[in-house]
Amino acid sequence: MTSVLKSAFERHARVALMQQPTPIARLTRLESLSGAQTRGIRLFVKRDDLGEVGGGGNKLRKLEFLLGYALAERVDTVITLGGIQSNHARLTAAACANLGLTCELVLADMVPRHDAEYREGGNVMLDRLFGAKLTFLSPGSDARSVAAARAEALRARGHRPMVIPAGGSSALGALGYVKCAQEILDYEAAHGVVFRHVVVPNGSHGTQAGLVAGFARAAGRGGIVRAYSVLSDRETTYVNTVNLVRETLALLDADASDLKEDVDIVVQGDYRGQAYGLPTPAMVDAVRLLARSEGILLDPVYSGKAFSGLLGDLANDRLPPNSDILFVATGGTPSLFAYRDTFDGCDQA
Ligand SMILES: *Cc1c(COP(=O)(O)O)cnc(C)c1O
Repeated sequence: MTSVLKSAFERHARVALMQQPTPIARLTRLESLSGAQTRGIRLFVKRDDLGEVGGGGNKLRKLEFLLGYALAERVDTVITLGGIQSNHARLTAAACANLGLTCELVLADMVPRHDAEYREGGNVMLDRLFGAKLTFLSPGSDARSVAAARAEALRARGHRPMVIPAGGSSALGALGYVKCAQEILDYEAAHGVVFRHVVVPNGSHGTQAGLVAGFARAAGRGGIVRAYSVLSDRETTYVNTVNLVRETLALLDADASDLKEDVDIVVQGDYRGQAYGLPTPAMVDAVRLLARSEGILLDPVYSGKAFSGLLGDLANDRLPPNSDILFVATGGTPSLFAYRDTFDGCDQA
């Protein structure tokens, strides 16, 4: 990262919610079990699932900037939105508890699951534990307008609310992953490694967009970030991610002319399955394989599907041989408990 970019992003207020840099570890047992070893591919994981607040996860990096802004603006109530089992909602609730802010969550019915385990277990149980106020929407209602109306009502009563978009994926939130890109570059310089790919899930785009913006100025690293879309289809994800990268570079006062969209923004759409939040057999296998080979947890909605993509592309020789690949573990462990049945047997479609 150039010093110009670095100082630009350090201008923004930030609160500390997790230890950084997060550790990077090599997955040697997985390398031999997955066929990576025979192709000369070394697999590494960056532990962005580790964080002191709320159980950890990728949303903490974004919340460091979003809530840094909230504190600077003397916000008293944070409103955010997501699916019922949103990791972002849970981490916003936890971070608000940590900072003494009131938190309200607008939870949309995005996945066709109506059992108690899904609606009250996992992240929802933790949202309540962290003291957030929960509003459950019926299918089809627009979470953004409900959140905006609630903010307006609070403002009319003299409060200072702030609405954080789904997944914390504004340009400001994406700065958290610009910082992550910088950590990866620092790690490479310190350890004499050059990662051929940095692999992430893409849901609301902030993780990929921040990383792409962070690597955009590093010469010769075009196309380093490889994402697997887990929420929207590939095309929608690609277009939205391009826009968010541009907004993030603008926030950094960085020149977007270095960006080569078709090279730098790599989105794979083949591993989402039928829809957001619906399990795939490959996801189940990937979560099991990493758990049993390395004792590391993925989640069923995001990182499990992205990891199944990495393993699938590895098996199909779509990754360059004799290369070093870094997977960013993004967290989401609590949602495993909302998907207990999925991991019970082998009859899941
Ligand atoms: C939100 C989330 C993602 C996706 O990150 P985006 O920035 O929304 O694309 C990946 N993994 C987990 C566990 C998440 O909760």
